[in-house]
Amino acid sequence: MAEQIKATNITWHHETVTRADREKNNGHGAAVLWFTGLSASGKSTIAQAVQAVLFEHGCQTYVLDGDNIRHGLNKDLGFSPEDREENIRRIGEVAALFLDAGMIVSTAFISPYRADRDKARSLCGDRFFEIFVDCPIDVCESRDPKGLYQKARDGKIPEFTGISAPYEPPENAELIINAAENTVEECVGKVIAYLQKRGVLTTG
Ligand code: ADP
Repeated sequence: MAEQIKATNITWHHETVTRADREKNNGHGAAVLWFTGLSASGKSTIAQAVQAVLFEHGCQTYVLDGDNIRHGLNKDLGFSPEDREENIRRIGEVAALFLDAGMIVSTAFISPYRADRDKARSLCGDRFFEIFVDCPIDVCESRDPKGLYQKARDGKIPEFTGISAPYEPPENAELIINAAENTVEECVGKVIAYLQKRGVLTTG
């Protein structure tokens, strides 16, 4: 995959406005909230609900959502292991740019491989918070908002995470949310409390 810089004669330009300057202006810290979990575990729902709360409190915030990104930036990628790796590599880079822009950016991708999530973490430093949306596959399958599990069981979707492709749960997630036993509101509350604890937010 595209690990090497192909172009020559390129120079890193230093910024006139730093992340710290932006954070000071925004009145909150920047962070990457990296939601990971099975399909239909609740990543998008929780990320969107967290964003709504943050926005209401005047925070600069954005959600990078799996399906949406696959309509544009990553529309050339499928679901083979190599394409999944490249998918997450690009998202990691984009998330790092949002972080540098002083924002609280959430990413809602299955991101099944530990190594790929760790690479994204390495781009974002100590403001990378891995949030494991923990939900048993039978609960995910019973929700199945997009009908994908049914299609996967019928053999219509190859390499479907949890059924015919692996999911590697985080070993050192900053936060684990049980999305089977907690309501969406409770899950959101846990994320906001974590951001307060880490000093990203000074007020609720
Ligand atoms: P993902 O982004 O992980 O694929 P989605 O957020 O698209 O998952 O879908 C999760 C589904 O489960 C939604 O229909 C949502 O309303 C439902 N749901 C029920 N309880 C919860 C919960 N506690 N947290 C998140 N989603 C929940």
